[in-house]
Amino acid sequence: MNIHEYQAKSLLKKFGVAVPDGGVAYTPDEALDVAKSLPGPVWVVKSQIHAGGRGAGRFKGGVSDEGGVRLAKSHDEVKDHAAAMLNQVLVTKQTGNDGKEVKRVYIEDGCEIARELYLSILLDRVTSRITVMASTEGGMDIEEVAEKTPEKIIKVAIDPVFGMEGFYARQIAFGLGLEGKQVGLTVKLLMAMYKAFTDLDASLVEVNPLVVTGDGDMIALDAKMNFDDNALYRHPEIAEMRDEDEED
Ligand code: ADP
Ligand code: MG
Repeated sequence: MNIHEYQAKSLLKKFGVAVPDGGVAYTPDEALDVAKSLPGPVWVVKSQIHAGGRGAGRFKGGVSDEGGVRLAKSHDEVKDHAAAMLNQVLVTKQTGNDGKEVKRVYIEDGCEIARELYLSILLDRVTSRITVMASTEGGMDIEEVAEKTPEKIIKVAIDPVFGMEGFYARQIAFGLGLEGKQVGLTVKLLMAMYKAFTDLDASLVEVNPLVVTGDGDMIALDAKMNFDDNALYRHPEIAEMRDEDEED
């Protein structure tokens, strides 16, 4: 089962992953209320569908250069973006030509981006090991990176005897070219992601992009989590996140 970005962020936040503050909205007025509860001066309005590539996606019948993730610089702009997305069909690289109807949007704090990285944790079927994938090519489709520039992907298999030990996390941080306080932040982040992955019986935890902010902090700007249906009975709070409108 797949969940929405805002749901994945709420789960990861409980484990200590830094995410922007935000709130979900089903109507433009609700989007306005969420915007007013956040500090500004920049907000991001994000279509919530079970597919990636939203930023570069386009709405059927919509303005040709406006995608499913948009910056807003005023409360009114947040409301306008929400109105332009809600109940409209968003087509992305991952939805196919039919696209997916946007039934909810997520409004969050805008973040100043210095670098975009990629980080995920998944079960490698070949080695049966929980594996971390990391790349300096954040914000891009990881399949595309794997195809065109496989040398830019760092893959680390985690020995279950050790779990997410600091040495794995530091190896990944250095592989991403991180220095100073970002190494410690990456260690903390990977430990939090790993604990979320194992405690929640996830099959995928993906943060793309993971960003280094203008202040040198690290924040998960996008999050995706998948779960095996047969593990969900142990996690009723996640089972409740099932979106009947989204078949996956
Ligand atoms: P998708 O992967 O579906 O396109 P993302 O959540 O990754 O959606 O958003 C696309 C891009 O929009 C990100 O790579 C980032 O550059 C930008 N973005 C997303 N959220 C924020 C935010 N809170 N603040 C600033 N920029 C953002
Ligand atoms: Mg993304």
